[in-house]
Amino acid sequence: MNLFRGTTTLIFFSLFMPVFLAAGSFSILDRPGKRVKELSLVSGERSSYLDLRELVAELGDSVYWEATGERLVWIVSGRSFVFEDRLSIFSLDGELYQFVAPSLLAGSRFLVPAQLAVEYLPQFFPERFVYNKLDGLLVDRTGVPVSRKKAVSETVEIRSVDTSRAAKSDGKNYRISTVVIDPGHGGRDPGALGRRHKLTEKHLVLEISQLVVARLKGSGELKVILTRDKDVLVPLAERGSLANKNGAGLFVSIHCNASRGSDLRGASVYFLDAAKTDEERATAMLENASLQYDAEQIGPERQNEINLILQDMAQNEYLRESKDLCSFIQSEMGRLDELPEKGIRQANFAVLRGAFMPAALIETAYISNPNDESLLRNRKFRERLAEAIAGGILQYINQYHKKLDSGALKAEQK
Ligand SMILES: [Zn+2]
Repeated sequence: MNLFRGTTTLIFFSLFMPVFLAAGSFSILDRPGKRVKELSLVSGERSSYLDLRELVAELGDSVYWEATGERLVWIVSGRSFVFEDRLSIFSLDGELYQFVAPSLLAGSRFLVPAQLAVEYLPQFFPERFVYNKLDGLLVDRTGVPVSRKKAVSETVEIRSVDTSRAAKSDGKNYRISTVVIDPGHGGRDPGALGRRHKLTEKHLVLEISQLVVARLKGSGELKVILTRDKDVLVPLAERGSLANKNGAGLFVSIHCNASRGSDLRGASVYFLDAAKTDEERATAMLENASLQYDAEQIGPERQNEINLILQDMAQNEYLRESKDLCSFIQSEMGRLDELPEKGIRQANFAVLRGAFMPAALIETAYISNPNDESLLRNRKFRERLAEAIAGGILQYINQYHKKLDSGALKAEQK
């Protein structure tokens, strides 16, 4: 069956082949301990890949696939996946999800990030697939036929070798070594504007973020990346993916709040979840307004895809850690006596949804309130603010590593 167009293949090879390296193998076992088939694992720039056709062939009769041009459809137990060449999103029954890297059509192979086997199959089919983090095995509990010719196997296990998540989950590589700090807005997107002193959110948060980075780097052990280090516009969709690409263990977005009236003031630290109050909803709407610039930067077609993702994404996996991160930052910011502190809150921020790691969005103060704006205008205050944010981040990392060393996290994950 020839499913791949020659022209596409040629373009693909010229653009993408140099980034690939052989990266070990991916074993499929018919029962624990007995290997029956080894699949090759391909290493890409941002992820390890599996050839979906090989995986599907080994998972047996309950799955089959067909392709239309660059789009691959895989029906599993009556549910259908759609993967598309060079898109890092895919759908299951029409709902969109995101990979850490795009699927890629490579000659006769259709490569999907190994994240599919390690993370998404167990998530979507909890009755069937279980991913054992300790030994890096995906177990198929139903036992599907390996092929029409072979007898039904009791268990199919997939040993993943080199995906980022598998590597992390072996414990020793799971430590947080990279942090991404995201100064909100930039370029044509000024963010919120002050009324008394005409301060601009994009400039304030860039400076505060740079101060945070300096303090984090001062701790000596972290790699710290800014999503922007000057006054440029970075689409919301690219901020989280920058963190994913760099294997960041934390993502922290820094903003100033604003309201229609001038009464509201104070600092809040947000994690990603549905807003519960009108104030939380208003803050999310304000920040998500930046999506209009995404549309201009990356074109309406890609924007539509991203909007669809944004409606559906929920990072439940990192909820607990994100809340912990928020509480460490919040308690440090609570020491700034002159700034009222509104606590830990939750809302649906587009910028957090693309980040596959614990994440927080900090509303440092209300730029629309004259008192808060005066505080933000003060360089000394901004330094203390940055000190508090960095302190909270470092404390979170510390306790996280302690939990990791004591084995508490593994116990939680079971
Ligand atoms: Zn903002």
